[in-house]
Amino acid sequence: MIAIEKMIAANRADCCGCYACYNSCPFDAITMEEDAEGFRYPRVDADRCRNCGKCERNCPVLNPIVKEQDQTPPTYAAINKDEAIRKDSSSGGMFQLFAEQILKEGGIVFGAGFDADWEVCHQSVETVAELDRLRVSKYLQSRVETSFQQVTEHLRAGRKVLFAGTPCQCAALRRFVGKNDENLILVDFICHGVPSPKIWRKYLALRANKKEIRRISFRNKNLSWERFLLAISYGNANKYLAADLNTDLYLQGFLQNLYLRPSCHSCHFCKKNRPSDITLADFWGVQEESPSMYDGKGTSLIFIQSTKGRNLFNQVKDHAKIMEQDFERAILHNPSMITSSTPSPKRTAFFQDVQRDEKDFMKLLYAYTKPSLKAQAKQFIRKIPGTVALVHMIKGKQ
Ligand SMILES: Cc1cc2nc3c(=O)[nH]c(=O)nc-3n(C[C@H](O)[C@H](O)[C@H](O)COP(=O)(O)OP(=O)(O)OC[C@H]3O[C@@H](n4cnc5c(N)ncnc54)[C@H](O)[C@@H]3O)c2cc1C
Repeated sequence: MIAIEKMIAANRADCCGCYACYNSCPFDAITMEEDAEGFRYPRVDADRCRNCGKCERNCPVLNPIVKEQDQTPPTYAAINKDEAIRKDSSSGGMFQLFAEQILKEGGIVFGAGFDADWEVCHQSVETVAELDRLRVSKYLQSRVETSFQQVTEHLRAGRKVLFAGTPCQCAALRRFVGKNDENLILVDFICHGVPSPKIWRKYLALRANKKEIRRISFRNKNLSWERFLLAISYGNANKYLAADLNTDLYLQGFLQNLYLRPSCHSCHFCKKNRPSDITLADFWGVQEESPSMYDGKGTSLIFIQSTKGRNLFNQVKDHAKIMEQDFERAILHNPSMITSSTPSPKRTAFFQDVQRDEKDFMKLLYAYTKPSLKAQAKQFIRKIPGTVALVHMIKGKQ
């Protein structure tokens, strides 16, 4: 057994599925295979493996990049001035500005986009028009495939590369590229965790005919930024399915941590100081922290993690409305900057039921995501004008 196999055997939750080992193997001995929950893990072909140790050296868990945690990253609220792009981005549309700058300099941008089956994998783009494929968060784990090898080839050819991905993917790429990374810009984000591609596949199969789908957005802002919709456009006649985060069962399961990857519950990468150059996020709580940066259409949070990140930020900042923030206050409503998500207590039972495959999948999702009677009663009370005050008075809080 080689080191990565031992690591997974000892604690499966240590493998974040970043594909660093897969990209490292010179003998094609590693394949990434989906497990029963739908997450990919490396499988090593003992006949091909020569025990060279490259996979171990490039694993961001076995060989982490240690960054002191004593610096407070400069923190900004930011809004891209291009309203159309902001509307079509998850938060304030800042990813687009960083990516455009790299493209302008003749560089290439890697990020997560849909594949032909409406699942998600990393892919590269060379023009501003193509950035449309990468914009907007996709709430399932992206397959990195051979992106790390491609990034290295572009860097060797002297090109700038911007790679956007989860904190584990970015840490893995930094480790993979090693010292020759002057032209590499890594943009990660505050990550709540990545859902299982298998659960997405099952959900989507019941929502729409894949062949008819034209567009999917996990963060449609037609209602508002905070009350985002999972919207699926399909067919020729502009048909459109949409449900918001309070009613869409897939979004509910994601937000309730029902089917995140096991490694997301003990994440090695949710830290204040990261090996990325820029960390992006939604500025939840902006109404309270910085009301002049709030208009209900999406505000980004930006954390500068390196000098390269600072330089890129300075290059694009005239195209955005920017306001400096206090780091500690800015992350008050976004704990995933520094802590892992806690698994739903129903996670194990849910996956057991999924594997049994007995019930209608939507009924199963509903059964596992519906709020408890107590939570329903609370929601009901909140909807009746004056009842919150009344309940507080009864509890002696006023
Ligand atoms: C799974 C997931 C969980 C997240 N959790 C949080 C959170 O808890 N708190 C928070 O503030 N923000 C979270 N975000 C980030 C947030 O939703 C926005 O992506 C971020 O604020 C950037 O917004 P933007 O408007 O600048 O760019 P956008 O245009 O939205 O750009 C998104 C970028 O993220 C990349 N991306 C999209 N989906 C994936 C994916 N599945 N895997 C890897 N990369 C991807 C794209 O390539 C693109 O570069 C999460 C994102 C994802 C994908």
